[in-house]
Amino acid sequence: MCSRTEGRLYLANEITSTEGMQQVKAIQVAGSKKSCFRCGNNKEKLFFRSPCSYCNQEECLYCRNCIIMGKMTECQYLYFEPSQPLIAPYQNRCLAWKGQLSPGQQGASDAVLKAVINRESLLLWAVAGSGKTEMMFRGMDEVITNGGRVCVASPRVDVCLELYPRLQEVFPNIELVCLYGDSDDVYGGERFVVATTHQLIRFYQAFDVIFIDEVDAFPYAKDPFLEYAVRKALLDSGCSIFITATPERKWQLECKNGKRNYIKVPARYHRQPLPVPERVWIGDWKRSLEKQKISPIILTWVRAKLDEGCPVLLFFPEIKVMHQVAPILEKLGFGPLLTVHSADSERKEKVQQMRDGTIKLLCTTTILERGVTFTNVQVGVFGSEGRIFTESALVQIAGRAGRKFDFPTGDVKFFHFGVSKSMALAISQIKLMNQLGRRQKLLDE
Ligand SMILES: [Zn+2]
Ligand SMILES: [Zn+2]
Repeated sequence: MCSRTEGRLYLANEITSTEGMQQVKAIQVAGSKKSCFRCGNNKEKLFFRSPCSYCNQEECLYCRNCIIMGKMTECQYLYFEPSQPLIAPYQNRCLAWKGQLSPGQQGASDAVLKAVINRESLLLWAVAGSGKTEMMFRGMDEVITNGGRVCVASPRVDVCLELYPRLQEVFPNIELVCLYGDSDDVYGGERFVVATTHQLIRFYQAFDVIFIDEVDAFPYAKDPFLEYAVRKALLDSGCSIFITATPERKWQLECKNGKRNYIKVPARYHRQPLPVPERVWIGDWKRSLEKQKISPIILTWVRAKLDEGCPVLLFFPEIKVMHQVAPILEKLGFGPLLTVHSADSERKEKVQQMRDGTIKLLCTTTILERGVTFTNVQVGVFGSEGRIFTESALVQIAGRAGRKFDFPTGDVKFFHFGVSKSMALAISQIKLMNQLGRRQKLLDE
């Protein structure tokens, strides 16, 4: 049992009293159509029936899709109180950040602020390494200072864990909470919430503004229920700000056709253009691997970069391929090297070793396509025509190079056996961003 808070959905057994609260049926049934209010599930195959201790029916309907948040049956209600602004909001601005925005960041920050004030949704399309977190500060401050509620959500836990301390630092007098699957933190009515998109399922009529970071990252892009969750967690008067370096094609077209409110930040804060990937044909690499061979073109490139003292990040289309290539590289004297993939329990440690420079060559799957920065890293994609390398994956991968002020450039090589459509689209997207950066005078060249 906990004391209730505004904007949160509760089952009757989760709170001491439902007095004065509004209620909504947990599962709506209309004819053959069912929908779960909590998670938005409307797929027949995700509803089950079982004997129920609340209504004593033999076959009471429940939703399987959100059962991880506690079993919820057809006979139950969800209780809530819509979020209200603070009666006496803050006298002074809550944002304590004193840094300087680059001109590109300033434009975006202004657009975010305008969207927040007008409560209209906005796509912030900012290239990797442009410093997007700072672009959100002023808009967040506007909501918080006026006594509203803000949520920063991301499909990725690691993004939440990185953002949380950063936001605590710049909003030192505001209570923040960080909610994700395994977190110990419990929502206690904080007006500033950092959460995985999945956690939004628990909210209703809660936030004035939701910032969704890395909106295209798995699993948001593939989970239609999470879109429902975002909409539901917003107040009717609320809006969302989507942030990404790589919006999906559909969104890109909506921007182009004037159907989506957006702002582009085409340049990095250090005013150098994005490294444009180079396509390098390496022949039938699968057949070469059968003979334990790797194209000399790759070997020469990796050797040259390591000899210059640069760390090298090599991406692979499959774990299997990576585990074929890595031992060959070791045998040829390219070690010490490490391999990393999503199920690797030592993932964090290995990434840290690469950061510390104790290893110089890291082989990886697309798991490191975003969220990591290595100083002066050089990037190669082995078998870049692989289907796993979508346009957005390749743009993100290329975005690993040249992120640091002192090392703003770097090689990005697409080693391929036939150019894929995604490769071509990724390269043209990067080139277009650089053109736009030049036109907007955001680049020094
Ligand atoms: Zn029941
Ligand atoms: Zn559900």
